Amino acid sequence: MTDTSNEVVLAYDLGGTKMIAAAIDGRGNILDLQKELVKKDQGMNVVLDQLIQLAQPILQKYPQIQKVAMASAGPLDPGRGELLDPTNLVTVGKSWGVVPIAQILSDGLKLPVQLENDAAAAVLSNHWVGEGKGTDNLLMLTLGTGLGVGVIANGQLVRAGRHLHPEGGHIILNCSDKTALCGCGNYGCAEAYLSGVGFCTRYAKSIGEDYVKGQEVMRRAEAGETAALNAFTEYSEMMAQAIASFVVLFAPEKVVFAGGFSASHHYWLKATEVRLEQLLARRRSGHDLVPQLEVAQLNEHMVVLGAARIAMQ
Ligand SMILES: [Zn+2]
Repeated sequence: MTDTSNEVVLAYDLGGTKMIAAAIDGRGNILDLQKELVKKDQGMNVVLDQLIQLAQPILQKYPQIQKVAMASAGPLDPGRGELLDPTNLVTVGKSWGVVPIAQILSDGLKLPVQLENDAAAAVLSNHWVGEGKGTDNLLMLTLGTGLGVGVIANGQLVRAGRHLHPEGGHIILNCSDKTALCGCGNYGCAEAYLSGVGFCTRYAKSIGEDYVKGQEVMRRAEAGETAALNAFTEYSEMMAQAIASFVVLFAPEKVVFAGGFSASHHYWLKATEVRLEQLLARRRSGHDLVPQLEVAQLNEHMVVLGAARIAMQ
């Protein structure tokens, strides 16, 4: 890789509720950062203009910026720079359809713009300046509203065919489990069990409630409530199964957990480790495929840093 340490790029993190634009240098220092709530209720064109306006003070301060990248929740097409009917960006129930967002921003900013999946940005960020630094075979699981999966193998970001992001959150662990409806419409996806929202929904259903927050489930587990303890037991089992599948596909040396729900790791991580060792018992000779499991420090700028890394590549 060329020396990019003096380079400054413009990076975006476009989420369902907030957007961030930042000037970031080649060492991962955030030089300037602007943040706003996404005005999605006012429609797509307002949001697109909002993104362009958010960057203006940054571009005036750092006129040397030549490259821009945006990380966003999928589904999206990084190769074509298009959002594909984004799940989290909907205006009063109306879908946005296919949005050529990289081209629209590029026209507005007069600079080239790359688009990337936020889970890919997260793993690149972690490999650059986080727990995964120095680990060239790395799997990152982001536990939040969804289950984000990002993979680096042999030092490179892993892509699916057609330059798409490998949507690891939707590998099916148990399609006959009608209690585990996923946001994608299928039953039994990894995301239905392992996202923070999936976990909380399943626990609540098991006790006849609508929804219980993760903090509260942890409190109940701490108090010894059987349903809460069972929910975490299931979580550790499904997590081990999902990781075992990712391991046989990608052979990561390290698995890093991030996202808000990773704060619950005290209740499932040890059991996941034990179960994973059982599942991979025959995968230890030659290359020992049992990966190290680690929880990332919470970093609200993880995704925007990954976007900067993408802009520099
Ligand atoms: Zn799914």
